[in-house]
Amino acid sequence: MKKITILGSTGSIGTQTLDVIASNIELFKVEHLVAGNNADLLIEQALKFKPKSVAINNLHIDKVKSNLDGTGIDVFDETKIDMIASDNVDLVVGAITGSSGLSPVYNAIKSGNDIALANKESLVCAGDMIMKLANKHKVKIIPIDSEHSAIFQVYSKQQKSGLEKIILTASGGAFVDKDINFIKTAKLQDALKHPNWSMGQKVTIDSAGLMNKGLEVIEACYLFDVKVKDVDVVIHRQSIIHSMVSMKDGSTLAQMGYPDMKTPIAYALSYPKRIYSGVNTLNFYEMNNLTFEKPDLKKFPALQLCKNSMEDGNGKPTILNASNELAVEQFIKGNILFGNISEIVESMLSIINSKTPNDLQEFNELHNETITKTKEYVKSINIGNS
Ligand code: MG
Repeated sequence: MKKITILGSTGSIGTQTLDVIASNIELFKVEHLVAGNNADLLIEQALKFKPKSVAINNLHIDKVKSNLDGTGIDVFDETKIDMIASDNVDLVVGAITGSSGLSPVYNAIKSGNDIALANKESLVCAGDMIMKLANKHKVKIIPIDSEHSAIFQVYSKQQKSGLEKIILTASGGAFVDKDINFIKTAKLQDALKHPNWSMGQKVTIDSAGLMNKGLEVIEACYLFDVKVKDVDVVIHRQSIIHSMVSMKDGSTLAQMGYPDMKTPIAYALSYPKRIYSGVNTLNFYEMNNLTFEKPDLKKFPALQLCKNSMEDGNGKPTILNASNELAVEQFIKGNILFGNISEIVESMLSIINSKTPNDLQEFNELHNETITKTKEYVKSINIGNS
């Protein structure tokens, strides 16, 4: 049985991971569950999967402890997450959203645990550091992000000399048919209307501005050891092809399926084998046309910002990620408009000097400096409405 730790067990990826595990309960043993604030769900998960330990934000620890009393399950607060991630298991699922997922993933790699990575931000904000560490400890990083799972399924690094392009598909997000003025002044409820995928709030908002696709270009560069120029983005509204690689011999290989995160999750859990995920295979007789379009960079400046920051290197992706995280948080609170997000990120990229962080401390310094400066900048924005 594969021993699994889930970082972020009560979020969208975490709950779907446990669904796949429940369908294959003879193959997996849940060792540790780490959650943020959803105590009720963590308690339910712990009682069902009987892990060795769980962790939750200190605010909820008494509730979780009293509910798990007598079960033998250890209950820790958030200060022990790195320790839990370091415990040796067969696979750690990194599904904590944002840069707060970095430290536990880093510690899991350091102790030699293979990673199923949903948390793209940890690669965006510290990709050099993470990939170096993974190589040093011979740790496999298996992507859960659907596009990268698709590429991982159809391409291996041994074929690199024959690779022409990695092609990331994008549904286009909530604003694909909106005009530029609508997008600039859009509010939270508009951005959350994702056409195809059911995902967490942060990634849905990132998707609406193609920021998510830009972050995924950076993620692909690190995971597959390619340059920005080797990665194209194509709008494919139906989200049936999850990404492709074009090879020098004229072949293009695609991975297809209904848009359901349980497919890439199941592959990451079972790799190199295949298991039941609960997702049906495609019915081609019922499928409409598949369409492909160029992304509109005027409407979606975030995509280019991501590409530029990756090409510049020198810590720019760290700045991009931190300022975007804070901007999205402010957008959720209603303090800024949608168009402000990419404006904020662009300003931070131009005013902060940086170099590539080599360890967690250097990362934290640059991340925190960016957060401080982004907060100052947000205060200066007057959105002129409420
Ligand atoms: Mg994705």
